[in-house]
Amino acid sequence: MSPMTPARVTGTPGRTRVLVVGGGITGMAAAHRLRARLGPDAEIIVAEQSARLGGKIHTVDFAGRPVETGAESLLAARPEAVDLAREVGLGDALVYPSALKPALSIGGELVDFPAGHMMGIPGDPADVAAVADAKERPDDGRPILEPGADMSVGALVRSRLGDEVLDRLVAPMLGGVYAGDVDRLSVRAVMPQLAAALERHARLTEAVAEIKRPAPASGDDAPQAGAPRGKPVFATVDGGLNRLVTATSAAARAEIRLGMTVRELRQTPYGWEVIAGPVPDPIKITADAVLLAVPAKPAAQLLRDVEPQTAAALSGVAYASVALAAFAFDQIELPERSGFLTPASEGKTVKAATFASQKWPHLGRRRQIVRVSMGRLGEEALLQYDDATLAKTALRELGEHLGHRLPEPVEQRIDRWGGSLPQYSPGHPARIAAAREALAFHRGIAIAGAAVDGVGIAACVASGRKAADEIADRLAR
Ligand SMILES: Cc1cc2nc3c(=O)[nH]c(=O)nc-3n(C[C@H](O)[C@H](O)[C@H](O)COP(=O)(O)OP(=O)(O)OC[C@H]3O[C@@H](n4cnc5c(N)ncnc54)[C@H](O)[C@@H]3O)c2cc1C
Repeated sequence: MSPMTPARVTGTPGRTRVLVVGGGITGMAAAHRLRARLGPDAEIIVAEQSARLGGKIHTVDFAGRPVETGAESLLAARPEAVDLAREVGLGDALVYPSALKPALSIGGELVDFPAGHMMGIPGDPADVAAVADAKERPDDGRPILEPGADMSVGALVRSRLGDEVLDRLVAPMLGGVYAGDVDRLSVRAVMPQLAAALERHARLTEAVAEIKRPAPASGDDAPQAGAPRGKPVFATVDGGLNRLVTATSAAARAEIRLGMTVRELRQTPYGWEVIAGPVPDPIKITADAVLLAVPAKPAAQLLRDVEPQTAAALSGVAYASVALAAFAFDQIELPERSGFLTPASEGKTVKAATFASQKWPHLGRRRQIVRVSMGRLGEEALLQYDDATLAKTALRELGEHLGHRLPEPVEQRIDRWGGSLPQYSPGHPARIAAAREALAFHRGIAIAGAAVDGVGIAACVASGRKAADEIADRLAR
């Protein structure tokens, strides 16, 4: 037998077997939903190429606190992520940020980030007048978007409210989430609710104002135990988001295969044959269905021979890279804010900072922990600098933003997230819908995750669950 011949076949004949590829939050949420749908006897295997579960969720012990090196918060304004936390027994561990607000760093000063906006787009130009000159351009009375049409966030905001709103407010807000270029980000993908409102409104501010208008109070607004008054927008897990990953994995009762790269998918008359594991010692896994919860590039590679149209749509998704520096300080005074964002026009490497121990009361303020984010789309070279250089740059610029030199931190670390944040260009939702339609001709395969349905953890949970439901429905037929 040649060393490349798959040597082992895993699985028990006669039981439904689903392979989930990718052990990030999407894959784990999918495995959890598959367990609920397929019952206790189904074999659910999660193949994860790295040595740990979680993907872009990674909590570490830093200065004696559980600190996130990647994602730090769950969007609680939509239900999926907090619901998952409650379902897997972490309801009591959900914690919420302090009421402190982030600032905008402009011209060496921290100024209040205006209220009443949606990702930096105001519902009333007067709301942002202190930092940006927002003069709404005359409209022609027709809705801004045709049904189903799309455009870039940059083109939308620049043409309706001008450069300052875009550069000073919208780009820093979106930069914090996507590290992207606003002229290449799709309105329909990154702000679907706004895109829907733009089909009804001729004025951008009116569309935003409609979305921002408080919904009539309902029974759902009753505060959850431990939650602040009013509906919290964000939450996290006391002890770190890793707990969400491990609790979901435990509740899914899946067979977790770490260090297992999935390399090839082959469709058979009975389901799927998957080649996985190290190149010199591959294994063959047979499965009734496969759920791909990996970034766009590996998903495209795996689908190349299965469904080229889907593979082509996925390979068109670009990714941005970011580097994060974390510092722990003893006895340092920080402004009473949760952090700051800064526009690219300020010419800094640091694009945002989170005063983590002030933003998250559960971390305590005995030591101040600051997370600094660097890198925008096109600045990948930044990640090539060594840790000491990145930390020095982050610390120096942090001091410039705060207006004073900072003391030596008691602890510091650098984390690089190369090619980690998908960039949804205009037309992305329609391309993904078509890619899914093409894939639906093949029985028992689905795609999910940040590559296709949204970067936020809540969006990933929703995506994983939906793909699991699709597969369970297909298997039931
Ligand atoms: C620095 C940073 C900060 C962020 N902050 C937030 C935040 O505060 N809030 C928020 O909601 N979101 C945040 N996000 C976004 C969010 O974390 C991610 O979009 C989300 O976690 C992605 O989950 P996923 O499971 O789809 O993909 P991933 O987490 O990328 O998981 C995919 C997994 O697939 C594995 N894999 C890849 N190829 C293969 C293969 N061939 N075989 C087997 N396994 C494979 C990978 O190793 C990985 O573990 C942040 C992202 C980054 C990078």
